[in-house]
Amino acid sequence: MNSLESYYLTEEHELFRKSLREFLDKEVVPFVDQWEEDARLPKELFKKFGDMGYFGMTQEEKYGGSNLDFWYDVIFIEEVSKSNSGGFGASISAHPYLSLSHLKHEASDFLKEKYLPKAIAGELVGALAITEPHAGSDVAGIKTTAVRQGDKYIINGSKCFITNGVFCDYMIVACKTASTGSSGISMILVEGNSKGLSRNNLKKLGWKASDTAEIAFDNVEVPVENLLGEENKGFYYIMQRFELERLTLALGAIASSEWALEYTLQYMNERKAFGKTINKFQVLRHKMAQLSAEIESVKTFTYHVCKMHADKNYCVKEASMSKYLATELSDKVAYQCLQMFGGYGYMEEYKMARFFRDSRLGTIGGGSSEIMCEIIAKMVIDDVNYQAQESRARNQDISIEELFTTLPSRLKKEKANGIELNVLFEFENNIFYLIEIMNQEVILSTVDRQMSTVDLTITTTTETYIGVETGKLNPQEVFMSGKIQVSDLGKMMQFGGLFKKYTN
Ligand SMILES: Cc1cc2nc3c(=O)[nH]c(=O)nc-3n(C[C@H](O)[C@H](O)[C@H](O)COP(=O)(O)OP(=O)(O)OC[C@H]3O[C@@H](n4cnc5c(N)ncnc54)[C@H](O)[C@@H]3O)c2cc1C
Repeated sequence: MNSLESYYLTEEHELFRKSLREFLDKEVVPFVDQWEEDARLPKELFKKFGDMGYFGMTQEEKYGGSNLDFWYDVIFIEEVSKSNSGGFGASISAHPYLSLSHLKHEASDFLKEKYLPKAIAGELVGALAITEPHAGSDVAGIKTTAVRQGDKYIINGSKCFITNGVFCDYMIVACKTASTGSSGISMILVEGNSKGLSRNNLKKLGWKASDTAEIAFDNVEVPVENLLGEENKGFYYIMQRFELERLTLALGAIASSEWALEYTLQYMNERKAFGKTINKFQVLRHKMAQLSAEIESVKTFTYHVCKMHADKNYCVKEASMSKYLATELSDKVAYQCLQMFGGYGYMEEYKMARFFRDSRLGTIGGGSSEIMCEIIAKMVIDDVNYQAQESRARNQDISIEELFTTLPSRLKKEKANGIELNVLFEFENNIFYLIEIMNQEVILSTVDRQMSTVDLTITTTTETYIGVETGKLNPQEVFMSGKIQVSDLGKMMQFGGLFKKYTN
């Protein structure tokens, strides 16, 4: 283990890496040339990966997963990316990291039970279909519609550039269910054999072993149970999952750059010019030294971001930085390493040609470099906080009743021990709620008037109170500006301290 990895990985992780590498060297590396010709992977390969447990490493055990930590996924992406076929890596990773991650986080128990076990076992292959012919970077601009008719959605529209789109058994499709921009998008599972679905494999510059589809939806009927999460929350779900997608793309770019560097150094140690091996020319040595330094530093930063992600810290800015730096660097590595091979670098039988083609997608797919810079610029220049925006999007529909029903589960029982407290909420339009805390219990009721017998009265608007509870508004600012008035500040602090923070 080199020094960077030893900071993050355990012996178990490295044993896993070794056995995965052996598996890939046996089941993948000898066949990638054929798959590149076929422009797709064989379906049985997914079953082999499923049998090894590779698709469910961070999925719940009850669905056939292993509930392991995120570093197993990191190792999986790294080793897969060292098999010199971007198309293989894309296809085999799109299933767990694009389609399965949406199922894991947003699907209902019904959908999870129906699809997760088979998808984790590799018996079903999934895809994620967001991009459309006229909307890629601008996700909110998609036009595919899902119109509800009774217990079905009727889907019409088209998608393009969808990895695994031709041979997948199901796809998670972003559709418009309302006409209100980004907040009108929903994620709906569509089975691959649905009537009205047509799919076509596109010819590409690289990533040849993966199928990349254009897909048309002509009155495709889908049961309403196939909705993931809530209607019109799709944009938020997509943004949430982008963090993982961008990290996987960064990790893949770094690992394949490391592979290319090693492959090039071997060649440079054999190829002779002017009576010596070309690794003795200082100008070439310095180029390789620079690339090596850049790969190592971007990898170090990316491992730090992986740690943030593994610890469930919000890292949209850092994951965007990683994706940007790593994929741009991969193109630089591809260009400069190919140069070391001279004419042979341009020949198909040398591995650099494929790496050169495959690397080029990194700065485009999963959010282009320009879009990464847009996100970073908004965060570092305009102080935009996507976490707050997402939490607003998440909470935009919550009502005061829904919020209050979360109080019993948020009560810190140890703190509430022996406490009796009656709190009256007085909202606009003469709406009153009484919250009684008694014997570690919370009793909620509506009352029709002001009461003088309570310990604490809180007077505010429902919007302000929801804003404070959901993190949209700063509580101190709200108190100081008088938007919330309380009859007893000490009791208010006691009341606030009895509950855990609201999280959706
Ligand atoms: C091989 C392959 C596999 C893919 N797999 C999938 C998949 O599985 N699922 C899926 O949904 N999608 C997939 N995609 C789509 C991919 O995510 C999009 O191609 C990508 O997001 C860019 O969108 P676009 O192609 O529409 O380019 P556009 O959005 O049209 O962008 C064109 C150019 O304009 C720039 N640009 C756009 N907006 C801005 C801005 N605001 N500021 C500055 N520059 C800007 C872009 O960076 C780019 O350089 C795949 C694409 C490819 C090529």
